[in-house]
Order: sequence, then structure tokens, then C-alpha cells
Amino acid sequence: MTDSHNLANFSPSEGALTDKIILVTGAGDGIGRAVALAYARYGATVVLAGRTLSKLEKTYDEIEEAGYAKPAIFAINLEHANEHDYVALFDALNQEFGVLHGILHNAGELGPRTPIQNYSLSEWQKVLNVNLTAPFLMSKALLPLLKKAENSSIIFTSSSVAKKARAYWGAYAVSKAASENLSQLLADECDEISTVRVNSINPGAVRTAMRAKAYPAEDPATLKTAEEILPGYIYLMSDESKDINGQQFDAQENTGLSNQPS
Ligand code: NDP
Repeated sequence: MTDSHNLANFSPSEGALTDKIILVTGAGDGIGRAVALAYARYGATVVLAGRTLSKLEKTYDEIEEAGYAKPAIFAINLEHANEHDYVALFDALNQEFGVLHGILHNAGELGPRTPIQNYSLSEWQKVLNVNLTAPFLMSKALLPLLKKAENSSIIFTSSSVAKKARAYWGAYAVSKAASENLSQLLADECDEISTVRVNSINPGAVRTAMRAKAYPAEDPATLKTAEEILPGYIYLMSDESKDINGQQFDAQENTGLSNQPS
């Protein structure tokens, strides 16, 4: 049984991610874009993975203009990617860096909010492919590179509907519950036999395109921006969390960071 921990107050040290190679999926928009920029700002070389090349290039340019370590881009559509695509990703990273210190599984599809009775198989498969199967295949393919690093971290992205499903959230809720389970399973497999750690983070309500689609009547100004929820994402990639494995975190809890979760 894992507890939920609070990390909104974590204050990363300068260079907390120096010399780390970190892959972020969905790095062209929303939370993924903000986290990729933050990882670069704290010293990492970021591999920007995602579907829309023009958006990834924009994030790339922002990182370059800020003078951070030169990032890399890997365009991949996680809905349709097969094992060969992940072998190609492994080969590209192995050739360029020879090692990987982190994966943030952030890319997500919301899918329709509709009763199960009306939920189409194609939408179901799309959401599960992006939110669950892609993190499975990517983790599987890249584990050998993560195991070559001294400390490495895989972060899955959760949601409140992972813990308590709600009507009409369909494959999204199911995929988030399953990816929390996958993160715990992988954490248990990695425990004691490697220095790879695996945790999940729930960003909470954040002002992004996905949130606006899910709650069209909501005033976005009432929500935190992606830039305001970054400490937990940095903590879980930094060596500060190297002994934390198989835990679930909330990015927006404000009651203080627990480095030694109970
Ligand atoms: P956005 O919709 O703003 O961004 C989603 C990202 O995922 C985009 O970069 C998008 O790429 C990428 N993506 C979607 N489908 C694919 C695909 N088939 N292949 C590759 N990349 C893809 O969402 P958020 O930033 O809000 O969400 C980020 C994560 O946080 C998600 O996992 C989401 O479930 C989770 N989350 C968000 C909450 C919120 O309130 N915002 C609350 C709880 C969880 P492209 O730009 O090309 O569309």
C-alpha cells in the first residue's frame, strides 16, 4: 500500500539535473512542454518526444534560446507506434547518449466523455494505446539504457480518476488506473535489482488544452498553470528522490515535502 505524498514545496538546487539525459513525452504542449523546459533549466539534456513536430521544434527553440543544454527531438505518434518504433528510439538514444537517466510518461489522450454504452472501440483503443500501451512499450524498450545510469527514474502521469472512477470518463479513467498499477508493478520489479525507480505523479487541475476540453465551462484563470506545478516533477527526476520507489505523488499538495514517506 502506498501513500500519497506532497511535493509542491520542494525547492530544487541549481543544477539538480546536470548531466542527466531525460526523455519527456508530449513535450510540445501543456504540462510536458513546461516540464521539459524546467528539466533543461536545471541542467538536463532533454529528449523531446511527441506527435507534432512543429510543437516539439518550438520547445527545442525555447531551450536553445535560453542557452540550456542542446536538446534532441524524437517524433513519435504514440497511438500507432509499434515495437519497431521503440527499437528505433532505443537505437537513436543508445547511439547519441549511450545511457538514459529518466522518462516522464506525460503524453495523454482524453478521449470522449460519454457512457460506456456509447463508447466506440476505436476511441477506447486510441486512449489506451497512448496512455497505457505506449508507456509499457517505451519503458520495456528503454530499461536497458536506464539500467546503465547510476540512478534513473521513470515517472508515470496519473489523474484523480485513477483512484476513483467517475461516470463518462471511459478509457481515460481506466488507462490512468492501469498505468498507476503498471508503475507500481515496474517499481516492484526494479526494486533491489537495479537503481531504476518508478513513481507516479498526479498533476491535479492544470490550465491546459486537455483540461479546457474536459471542463469547457470552467474559467481557466482559476487553475494553476503548468509552470506552477513543476517542483514535484523536478524532485522525482533529481537524485533527491533516488531512494523513493513505487510511490504516488500529488503535484499540487501544499503541506510540505516528505522525503521519507511513511
Ligand atoms: P495537453 O493536451 O495539453 O498535452 C498532451 C500532450 O500529449 C501533447 O503534447 C500531445 O501532443 C501529446 N499527445 C497526445 N496524443 C499523442 C500521441 N498520439 N502521440 C504522441 N503525443 C501525443 O494535456 P496536459 O498537458 O493537460 O496533460 C499532460 C498529462 O497530464 C496527461 O497525461 C494528462 O492525462 C495528465 N493530467 C492532466 C491534468 C490537467 O488538468 N491538465 C489533470 C490530470 C492529469 P500534441 O501537442 O501533438 O497534441
